[in-house]
Amino acid sequence: MKSQKALTINPIGYIESPYKEKFAIPRQPGLVTAAKGKVILTGKANNAELVKGLAQFSHIWLLFVFHGTQEKGWKNFVRPPRLGGNKKIGVLATRSTFRPNPIGMSVVKLESIELITQQVILHISGLDLLDQTPIIDIKPYVAYSDALSDTKAGFANSQPEAKINVSFTSQAQLALTKFCKQIPELALLIEQVLMQDPRPAYRQGKADNKIYGMRLYHLNIQWQMQTLNNVLVSVITSEPPLVQSE
Ligand code: SAM
Repeated sequence: MKSQKALTINPIGYIESPYKEKFAIPRQPGLVTAAKGKVILTGKANNAELVKGLAQFSHIWLLFVFHGTQEKGWKNFVRPPRLGGNKKIGVLATRSTFRPNPIGMSVVKLESIELITQQVILHISGLDLLDQTPIIDIKPYVAYSDALSDTKAGFANSQPEAKINVSFTSQAQLALTKFCKQIPELALLIEQVLMQDPRPAYRQGKADNKIYGMRLYHLNIQWQMQTLNNVLVSVITSEPPLVQSE
């Protein structure tokens, strides 16, 4: 066996994301297009020379560290939520965050590149990343090689069709109107996040009377899956949450 050298990886930046906690982050990029974020380059990578030519690409790959879960380590088997959370699959056959090396990869839309004094910022959308996620590399998405059509994807063959309607109480609607002045895409963001049914695997496909709380930007949002296809958002507030998320 050839000797394998340990590799030290230094982040080249970090993410600013509307997702302030793991709960309710979509399971893959591109599912919530209204999610807008930023890649803030840092250290020696915070240099406009590194991104020269990148604006010609509509999408980029982000390689990142699952910093929110890396302490928890990994196991050979995981139970993908898509299989209801009760079937075991080998970790390398999944996109689980709990992996031998806690490294993730996501294709996101590159909206623009901003160069302000001493700071390079990539504006992105469609991300599935927790706020402050360390970025270890960025590569352009190249469709001729990255977009494959003749493929099979086992248990993750297709994205289940979203059939969930999202409605707001009149109180939540008032708050939405207020906060949309600061975050114009907020209504769409909440709708798209809830259409993914962020509840734990064992609750999927069932109505339940639990009130869930989720954090997007500086806001705490409470909602309930009233029936199998209907979510009601009851509270949108910048106050601390009254309800803990799962
Ligand atoms: N697209 C990536 C991949 O395939 O490597 C991530 C897929 S992983 C299934 C997506 C989940 O990772 C999100 O739903 C969120 O719960 C979690 N996540 C995102 N950023 C994270 C971070 N920095 N630390 C830990 N978990 C994170």
